[in-house]
Amino acid sequence: MTLHADYDPDNIFAKILRGEMPSVKVYEDDVALAFMDVFPQSEGHTLVIPKQVEARNFLDMPTEKLGAYMARVQAVAQAVEKALVPDGVVVTQFNGAPAGQTVFHLHFHIIPRWSGRALGSHAGGQMADIGELEGIAQKIRPFLA
Ligand code: AMP
Repeated sequence: MTLHADYDPDNIFAKILRGEMPSVKVYEDDVALAFMDVFPQSEGHTLVIPKQVEARNFLDMPTEKLGAYMARVQAVAQAVEKALVPDGVVVTQFNGAPAGQTVFHLHFHIIPRWSGRALGSHAGGQMADIGELEGIAQKIRPFLA
């Protein structure tokens, strides 16, 4: 059911896009917005969401808009890698609640990984300190300018 349903314009990422909810932004243009995940699974966990489209998930995304959006996902992943120098980077997304999706506006997760450092739980755990997220975002932004 959550895989195929109407887009809810009041989902939290739609509110962030409209400026009704705060976020720690790292990049924005007319195609995509990237911001820090407030329940990060690792330091630098960043989300990239498409703009000007009502897509709940990857399956819903109009194919003609995918190329430009994925270019932003890659650019943000490259910037996170350059800024934070992790040993690896997970780029992932979930479609439908049974697959792990909790916010129903398409987003890709960019999760830096370091050898020997455990991954935090998905969409849970403790909310990050916004000042710390801002500090991380400041490191990433120059690589997207
Ligand atoms: P998913 O479960 O794949 O739909 O991912 C949703 C992600 O959004 C999770 O990693 C949450 O930690 C994150 N999240 C939820 N609310 C916010 C918010 N207000 N600002 C930033 N990230 C959020």
